[in-house]
Amino acid sequence: MNCRLMLRSAFRGLRTNPAAGPRSMSQSSLAGKVAIVTASTDGIGLAAAQALGQRGARVVVSSRRQANVDKAVALLQSRSIQVTGTTCNVGKGEDREKLVQTTLDRCGGIDILVSNAAVNPFFGNIMDSTEDVWDKILAINVKSAFLMTKLVVPHMEKRGGGNVIFVSSVAGYQPMQGLGPYSVSKTALLGLTRALAPDLAQSNIRVNCVAPGVIKTRFSATLWQNEDIMDEFKKQLSIKRVGEPEEIGGAIAFLCSEEASFITGETITVSGGMGCRL
Ligand code: NAP
Repeated sequence: MNCRLMLRSAFRGLRTNPAAGPRSMSQSSLAGKVAIVTASTDGIGLAAAQALGQRGARVVVSSRRQANVDKAVALLQSRSIQVTGTTCNVGKGEDREKLVQTTLDRCGGIDILVSNAAVNPFFGNIMDSTEDVWDKILAINVKSAFLMTKLVVPHMEKRGGGNVIFVSSVAGYQPMQGLGPYSVSKTALLGLTRALAPDLAQSNIRVNCVAPGVIKTRFSATLWQNEDIMDEFKKQLSIKRVGEPEEIGGAIAFLCSEEASFITGETITVSGGMGCRL
């Protein structure tokens, strides 16, 4: 075959065989989808809302404070994202129900849940942690993730399927010093992902998880603002820097897209190459 014929046949292949070239926009597009992202007025949640919105999803942002919700909605609108918002403290049952009902009222359905909220009220030796600390951490970081899922699943089923994403942490694989109870709560999300995936696959709902490394947000400021701690961290990293929230948002959007249609029960670590598997 001469050179011109070879080129012509290669271009024909690109036109007719989607696997031969870059995937078409429609496979990564989330147009027509409705996404709830909890704790999404700052940091990773806000970046996830932006990444989903940039792919065409209508996003519902939420957090505890109305002023933060208003600010996040304005910011995302300024970036041409279809967005609405409401307050929701994920630890409160009535707030979780309000978030779901508001989404149904304003957007007509639910296709995606990103359960991102977490707290860490304790730093120190795990043996000094109290029952109150454990109650708070498990209620917000684990129980609310399950209870939000339970609330949205019937609505996803009405749409013929959906995606649930939990935000865990590399601390879920390797407990971080001083963050024992928080780390255990993040390990629980790895288990929750695996426990839910087989059941919800029957309803065409995929359940996945992301485990971020150290990401530049307010939540982790005590880590990345401390040079000594970061020097120690960097020894464990292949990419020797702190991650950006958008780098987690992109992974979340990928997991919700058709490009990830055969992925469920999985946790993707987005950590700059930190060695952290059970
Ligand atoms: P962040 O930048 O500090 O943002 C926290 C967000 O959560 C804010 O929008 C806050 O808004 C909201 N929030 C706090 N408590 C809430 C509650 N009870 N109910 C609803 N919203 C609440 O935090 P982030 O670093 O993005 O953390 C997000 C997730 O990533 C968490 O699950 C965290 O464990 C995980 N993660 C973070 C890192 C990291 O290095 N940053 C690493 C691994 C995992 P209001 O104050 O208005 O409520």
